[in-house]
Amino acid sequence: MNRTFAFLAGAASVAAACLIGGQEMKAQNNMMMMQNNAMSVTHKVAIAAHRGYWNCEEAGYARNSVAALRCAQEAGFAWSEFDVNMTADGVLLVVHDGELEGKRIDASPYSEFQEITLENGEKIPLLGDYLMQAKECPSTGLILELKEHSTPEIEDKAVKATVAELREHGMADPKKVMFISFSINICRQFARLMPGFTVQYLGDGYSPARLKSMGITGIDADFTSLADTPGTIDEARRLGMSVNCWTVNKTEDIRKMAGMKINCITTDFPMEARKILGSREIKAAAK
Ligand code: MG
Repeated sequence: MNRTFAFLAGAASVAAACLIGGQEMKAQNNMMMMQNNAMSVTHKVAIAAHRGYWNCEEAGYARNSVAALRCAQEAGFAWSEFDVNMTADGVLLVVHDGELEGKRIDASPYSEFQEITLENGEKIPLLGDYLMQAKECPSTGLILELKEHSTPEIEDKAVKATVAELREHGMADPKKVMFISFSINICRQFARLMPGFTVQYLGDGYSPARLKSMGITGIDADFTSLADTPGTIDEARRLGMSVNCWTVNKTEDIRKMAGMKINCITTDFPMEARKILGSREIKAAAK
């Protein structure tokens, strides 16, 4: 589908959804505040749609597509996660794998990848295209995962290019975007360049205290390791760090993680997570 057409077609419905969602959320928040006055406050959890809300017909089941972001916005999820890789000629692509069709992205020019299509017919989105859609409904925040690249030097360049792109689109705002990465170097670079932003490390090789000493403000952990070591959550909370977890897809696991004092659950099944959380969900307008 033509990119401009797809973007325009989605823009109006997202704007309407955000407006209506905002009014509904205000009423819901008032209701919840009244309920909370009458009973003990229940811990609330945000949902992050993993690679966007791709798991639906409207998004064409295409992970990391612009349509998947638009569906996450329309549904009013607090966060929409996505992945970024940089080509050898410095083009930032919204795509998960570091290698496509046998070619490393960071060792190949964009021209090698520009004809590849996703399941829903979209081309692999450029970060700029993705941010154009993000701007339509900034109450659904972006969880931007910058993937590990081949060398620290390439990673540093990718971090700088990402920050420049966010600034260009007016999205360099800690309420609109947070950063995650499996690369400790990338996390440190984002923390250095973007003070005041949430930066979460995805791996498990560092304690919360060690991460904090590096300027990293949160953890985004494999939920199975968090469930096994609840002390990690307590330590992070004591240090004032945020705690997210991935990728929680089974009903019993979503229920279990919601019962732990975490900020956000990343899932491929955000609508199912919403049903499980009920009034404990922090929605986009209330984020
Ligand atoms: Mg990711």
